[in-house]
Amino acid sequence: MNILVTGGLGYIGSHVVVCLVENGYDVIILDNLSNSDISVLSKLEKITNRKLNFKEIDLGIEDHVKDFFKKNTNIEGIIHFAALKSVGESVRKPNKYFQNNLNATINILKYMPEKVPFVFSSSCTVYGSAMKQPINESTPHGIAESPYGKTKQLCEKLINKKFFESKNFKGISLRYFNPIGAHQSGLIGENPKNIPENLMPYLTQVVGGRRKVLTIFGDDYDTKDGTCIRDYIHIMDLAEAHIKAIDYLINIKVTKFLEFLNIGTGIGVSVLELVKTFEKSTGLKVNYSIGKRRPGDIEKAYAQTNKAKQILGWKPKYTLTNALKSAWNWEKKSLI
Ligand code: NAD
Ligand code: UDP
Repeated sequence: MNILVTGGLGYIGSHVVVCLVENGYDVIILDNLSNSDISVLSKLEKITNRKLNFKEIDLGIEDHVKDFFKKNTNIEGIIHFAALKSVGESVRKPNKYFQNNLNATINILKYMPEKVPFVFSSSCTVYGSAMKQPINESTPHGIAESPYGKTKQLCEKLINKKFFESKNFKGISLRYFNPIGAHQSGLIGENPKNIPENLMPYLTQVVGGRRKVLTIFGDDYDTKDGTCIRDYIHIMDLAEAHIKAIDYLINIKVTKFLEFLNIGTGIGVSVLELVKTFEKSTGLKVNYSIGKRRPGDIEKAYAQTNKAKQILGWKPKYTLTNALKSAWNWEKKSLI
């Protein structure tokens, strides 16, 4: 079956492409390379030992999306990753985020063929500063902490609208917690074009010598060691959740379906715990210092995960140590 993967040369999309091919799917990758590099394509071809179908398209341009679906009538599933994802940049340039993330989703939902299963990359940011931990899916959308978070909430609303208006829409919105780590080959991983804003790539770049010091944003939160708590999930576990989701949608007998599912481990880990676990599992020192809180940061966010387990039969297999070692393996290989 042909699965369209938008943003398929990015961090998460590229790992999902590997899993799709391993699970017998054919893929069509669309990306505008705004936050990825064309070299990822040949690395994916190396890992999968397959020539892959790639088209450079900006999904924000309506005519390009319309034309793509007109010419490609063989799409049997869609996994929609393409979006801008930097929280900090979204605060500085909100319009860029609203335009890119909303237009891409509007265009896909408008021109995608009827009945084709649709999996969306959402985020735990939709919950805002949820008071109750672990966060379950019945927690309503909170106050968005950033324009990026707002785009995820609005995209979920657009998907909901599509579901209510259509006779046969089948979709799953996966609300990721914090994906980290890399494929075991070390050929693909998280490689943002600009200075990383996320903890994991920043930390590995410090250890690898590309950056001097990791600033831990605040140690005066109401948590066990004062640093923020997150739910870090191995990228290969996250990728596997997409396969389960697309398989589920392809096989269900009902004509209409929509679910919102948390994808995390259910384990809350503080920033300092992550740093210490990295040091212990790799034997390397992380040069860090404690800095001020980062505006917009949420104190705690970790997932309740039983809904994904119950519906998709998915649960994470990897540990935090596995994820940290794989992230370091990727950084080491990219330094060569
Ligand atoms: P990424 O930036 O590595 O990948 C996104 C890809 O989409 C990039 O290759 C980029 O070039 C492409 N893209 C962006 N806008 C496009 C457009 N208009 N047309 C075509 N291609 C476009 O990001 P990622 O970490 O792989 O994230 C993938 C998805 O998961 C995003 O929707 C993101 O918001 C969501 N998500 C990510 C995280 C995370 O921590 N990485 C957490 C929650 C949700
Ligand atoms: N963080 C940090 N230093 C950094 C980057 C992130 O201390 O250079 C912290 C951040 O405050 C948060 C955690 O690491 O508590 C995860 O941040 P990330 O940006 O990776 O994910 P998100 O905040 O979106 O959950």
